[in-house]
Amino acid sequence: MAQETNEMELGTVRKTRVAIFGAGISGLAAAKRLRDVAPNVEFQIWERADRVGGVIGTRVVDGFLCETSVDNFITTVPWGLELCRELGFQDELASTNSRFRRTFVVRNGRLWALPDGFMTMAPTKFYPILVTPLLSPFGKLRCGLELFLPRRKSSEDESLAAFAIRRLGKEAFDRIIEPLVGGIYGGDAARLSLRATLPRFAEMEEKSRSLIWAMTKTQRAARRVKREEESGARYSFFVTLRSGMQSLPERLADRLGRENLRLNRGVASVSRESDGGWRATDTQGRTERFDAVLFATDSGSAASALADAAPTVANLYGQTEHTGVAIVHLAYRNDQIGRPVQGMGFVVPTSEGNGVIAGSFSSFKYPTRAPEGTTLLRVFVGGARAPEMVELPRDELVGRVENEVCKLLGVKGEPLMVDVARFPNSMPQYYLGRLEWRQKLQEALDSEPTLALAGNALNGVGLPVCVKSGYDAADKILADLGLRPQS
Ligand SMILES: Cc1cc2nc3c(=O)[nH]c(=O)nc-3n(C[C@H](O)[C@H](O)[C@H](O)COP(=O)(O)OP(=O)(O)OC[C@H]3O[C@@H](n4cnc5c(N)ncnc54)[C@H](O)[C@@H]3O)c2cc1C
Repeated sequence: MAQETNEMELGTVRKTRVAIFGAGISGLAAAKRLRDVAPNVEFQIWERADRVGGVIGTRVVDGFLCETSVDNFITTVPWGLELCRELGFQDELASTNSRFRRTFVVRNGRLWALPDGFMTMAPTKFYPILVTPLLSPFGKLRCGLELFLPRRKSSEDESLAAFAIRRLGKEAFDRIIEPLVGGIYGGDAARLSLRATLPRFAEMEEKSRSLIWAMTKTQRAARRVKREEESGARYSFFVTLRSGMQSLPERLADRLGRENLRLNRGVASVSRESDGGWRATDTQGRTERFDAVLFATDSGSAASALADAAPTVANLYGQTEHTGVAIVHLAYRNDQIGRPVQGMGFVVPTSEGNGVIAGSFSSFKYPTRAPEGTTLLRVFVGGARAPEMVELPRDELVGRVENEVCKLLGVKGEPLMVDVARFPNSMPQYYLGRLEWRQKLQEALDSEPTLALAGNALNGVGLPVCVKSGYDAADKILADLGLRPQS
């Protein structure tokens, strides 16, 4: 299909038009790619809500900056950082405060430091593991045994839990690994696919046999590179935007041109036209024609809108399961905190059984988020382990979280500020079977020209990977329209 179609009967040249549904970071990134690669293509973004950003949101309440969902993003995956630089955010990027780069783990209602060098799945330093009170002597021995265990013979996928228990033992899994991965996915580690969530650990076992050995080597190499790269702007593992993460989708929408954005316009369905184009119908029954459609909504909305036009894609995409989470911000004067800890935050094992998944000391991580003399806490609750928490009445939810925070930190008195944000059904879960699912979805999409999907249900939930999913979806559309070869 050509970029410009001669409309002979009208004597005009009609531009190719692409619809993007959803103005979260994935949809906005897709629009940016279209704009950058094919500036002559017209696009329109339909967003059901009255603002851009999707789950991303920043609220400033009584001088406290609360990130309602995305708190920061990883810098080792390039697309988030690159996007920020392209949008001129260099001076706005803030690294985590190096004074507080420690994480704590809850055990028996108390906070204990995560052994130094413990990276998600495996320790990279021996002494901290030897002395940690988080593991019993048997647990430490079992963990150390990992160095000598053979590789697994089968290359079949397995759950995060099965993998971690097999390599490092049940105690290390229950007390350290499960809360660390639970904090990332809000999911059930016994169902999450290792290869769809943390494939590098499966690769480590394949290549190096022992995770401890492989990670120790990687850490040493990373330290060497860091020493060699003494010049130029460097960022910590995670960065945020000083003015709040919401400024990222807002500036991106400004750059794309707000005239291309239709807020409060949700897509209800799409159908194929006889010439291969599309007719999109919004929730108020208004229709519009497009040459291509790109869904960057949540997978459930996309599946429902595509049910008639692309049933195989819709069926597969709609199978994605989600969990919900709530984020509760609590602010205190420093002198209200009886047992202050110097760290980024804490994670909570399921066995502690309180519905809290993790917490971060937001104002230690990024000091500009709270006024002098105060502490801002950000507590993550719900997920697969306690989905009912997300729906609790506000007072009950806040009460339960305050109770936990009081027990852990010895907090006295009422919080200075409370903010609650709920995200029901918003975290896609990459359960076992996800890799086969991806393959089938890819095949189904290959047979649907000018239809593309972007978003966190596909290849990763983190912001940088969502940006990449937007770029990839735009590339598919451009290739299908004959405007850019698909790589
Ligand atoms: C609580 C929470 C904390 C997180 N923390 C982090 C973090 O710290 N770091 C990180 O990297 N990632 C984090 N993530 C993950 C990351 O934020 C998301 O995966 C990512 O922002 C998703 O972007 P998206 O554009 O794919 O989807 P969304 O943000 O969900 O956007 C989809 C958009 O589609 C719109 N829409 C839905 N249906 C329709 C329709 N029918 N028609 C039109 N529009 C529609 C929605 O209104 C929404 O705006 C977090 C996620 C959550 C929920």
